[in-house]
Amino acid sequence: MATTWTPESWRNKPIRQVPDYADKAALERVEQQLSGYPPLVFAGEARRLRQQLGEVAEGRAFLLQGGDCAESFAEFHPNNIRDTFRVMLQMAVVLTFGAGCPIVKVGRLAGQFAKPRSAPTEVIDGVELPSYRGDIINGIDFNEAEREPDPERLVRAYNQSAATLNLLRAFAQGGFADLHKVHQWNLEFVSDGAPAQRYEELAGRIDEALAFMRACGIAPETVPKLRETDFYTSHEALLLWYEQALTRVDSLTGQWYDCSAHMVWIGDRTRHPEEAHVEFMRGIQNPIGMKCGPTTDPDELIRLIDILNPANEAGRLTLIARMGHDKVGDHLPALIRAVQREGKQVVWSCDPMHGNTVKSSSGYKTRPFDRILAEVKNFFAVHRAEGSYAGGVHFEMTGQDVTECIGGAQAISDERLGDRYHTHCDPRLNAKQSLELAFLISEALKD
Ligand code: PEP
Ligand code: MN
Repeated sequence: MATTWTPESWRNKPIRQVPDYADKAALERVEQQLSGYPPLVFAGEARRLRQQLGEVAEGRAFLLQGGDCAESFAEFHPNNIRDTFRVMLQMAVVLTFGAGCPIVKVGRLAGQFAKPRSAPTEVIDGVELPSYRGDIINGIDFNEAEREPDPERLVRAYNQSAATLNLLRAFAQGGFADLHKVHQWNLEFVSDGAPAQRYEELAGRIDEALAFMRACGIAPETVPKLRETDFYTSHEALLLWYEQALTRVDSLTGQWYDCSAHMVWIGDRTRHPEEAHVEFMRGIQNPIGMKCGPTTDPDELIRLIDILNPANEAGRLTLIARMGHDKVGDHLPALIRAVQREGKQVVWSCDPMHGNTVKSSSGYKTRPFDRILAEVKNFFAVHRAEGSYAGGVHFEMTGQDVTECIGGAQAISDERLGDRYHTHCDPRLNAKQSLELAFLISEALKD
């Protein structure tokens, strides 16, 4: 029997993957401060995304979610935000041709700071310190002062998120995303090689379509849908003190929304029906995601769906499968069948990143491009076999020219990983690899 939900009811439940703040009074002060700050998103926007994800659940749209594994204070720069945004625009163009339907664009941006870790501490040369948990919690440098969780970091993360969101809104609505600019989105370092050439061809086809419209007497520059785009933000709702402080009653509906992002998700390590993260998520009205890993049990999945989406509304819940390229075929069918048997409305999305992380011989955490692609392909194949709709993809990627995932047309080798390995947490696809993957997925969508 469910008890009454409040924005703080999660505090009575067991919780995992959050820091133990030494200075509780400082944490409370920060929570107070943040609860007085403006919401980062408006509830109406979150509702609109929920509605668009409803279209995805019904098979009439496709979800593209992507961005950093962990945003950082050090990499906060307008060029980084711009470059990630424009690669996502490019990917969306490519996927529109493949899927033949609208692409719902959601960034892992403007709030993706807190990280679950496999161990609470890290030992280097016999020194044991708390693990790095993302810039909203502690610092990445391996010394005692940096690794101490600091509540003031919540305020800094909020401010960075506000500025990031402001720029994203300006890009989405201020002309940058205008389809007339489709050629200019080709980043310089992406502009050589096969994916860039293919992208130029597609951009040429868009030019032709715009010219055709003009010839028919419709001025495309007066059509808002061609000049602007909807771009939404999302992150893992891990640090619940932060999420609660930004959870507000929507004055239009009287319902609670977590206004730290349009969409928030529950990670694979915190999706326990009796615990704090699920408790918090069930009461907010945002569209939410939940990661499903190889240990997700079909019966438990149905139980979680009943808790998180009791009214069974399409667009409320996105299940993000992250199995590993070699495990999709074994684990996903049972989950899909359980969802079908119970008539549950969900969006199925594929995160081909988190089940495919390996340690390279040079010592870096990496992900082979081929395995990422194989997981997406297997995900599509399983859905096709089960008669279910594969509705989206979820990537860790950046617009920068990093060398973090091996392989792809660029053929990044093990030995080259150290050249530009900048991630604060997991290895990301670079701009070229992201575009290449979009083309390969686009082909799979057409099959
Ligand atoms: C993530 O998305 O960065 C993440 C930690 O994923 P998961 O919860 O699936 O491991
Ligand atoms: Mn990650």
